[in-house]
Amino acid sequence: MPGPGEIRVQVEACGVCRTDLHVVDGELENPRVPIVPGHEIVGRVEALGSGVLSVRVGQRVGIPWLGHACGHCFYCGSGRENLCDTPTFTGYTRDGGYATHTIADAAFVFPLDETADAVALAPLLCAGLIGWRTLKLAGPGKAVGLYGFGAAAHIVAQVCRWQGRDVYAFTRPGDGAAQDFARSLGAVWAGGSDQRPPTELEAALIFAPVGALVPAALRAVRKGGRVICGGIHMSDIPAFAYRLLWEERSVASVANLTRQDGTEFLKVAGEAGVKTQTTAYPLARANEALADLREGRMQGAAVLVP
Ligand SMILES: [Zn+2]
Ligand SMILES: [Zn+2]
Repeated sequence: MPGPGEIRVQVEACGVCRTDLHVVDGELENPRVPIVPGHEIVGRVEALGSGVLSVRVGQRVGIPWLGHACGHCFYCGSGRENLCDTPTFTGYTRDGGYATHTIADAAFVFPLDETADAVALAPLLCAGLIGWRTLKLAGPGKAVGLYGFGAAAHIVAQVCRWQGRDVYAFTRPGDGAAQDFARSLGAVWAGGSDQRPPTELEAALIFAPVGALVPAALRAVRKGGRVICGGIHMSDIPAFAYRLLWEERSVASVANLTRQDGTEFLKVAGEAGVKTQTTAYPLARANEALADLREGRMQGAAVLVP
């Protein structure tokens, strides 16, 4: 049963995120074990804990990665609840959506379109939302590189195009299918991450968990360019010459999300007409979905359906 301030949600669909791979592979610190993964949850509210007034039974909600933030630490007090000192994270430190039902903090869920396809909505809850935060940190530059053209990039590319930016998509070298997919979503250029784009970039967003992409992206951005790492985990970044960072290039990471990011992004996704490409798997085949993601065997996002 949901506790005070919590809700029980019947899961309609749950997206499979690369972070879930890091969780099951034990690559993140201080996990709660055992844990039910999954933090791109679309579902219907089934029961309310005491004191919950913000949602009603039967309403469709989205449950994101940020499961709870304390509301009173240094970061929460300065509009940065994504950096909260004592957060909980859905599918990492509290049970998530690889399930038929889940419990969420009612204050950290988002109302969702009641009639849209649940599978199509699920990837917006992390790939879309973290992609949006990553894009915001990259600034307003027109020429944007996306390194790793998976679930996040395929959404960000559509947002960039809607904003009038030019997308340069970088995939695993030789991955022609992913490059075609990027072009079909409006990328003006697509190539391997070992290639240089035809023009200097103003910003680069890195979604692949590959540290070697950091110096590669620094090489591709012009003076003042920003390189933003959107993932929670990455292999080590190889040493590189200071001249790659020189001339006010910068590297930063994005951590988690604020509820403000979610509200903003869900509005943008609607206005931009973002269409996700998904592959649905029955919940019982969750391990197969994770394996396919690991091997890059799908375009867009995998989504589990209980
Ligand atoms: Zn995620
Ligand atoms: Zn806090």
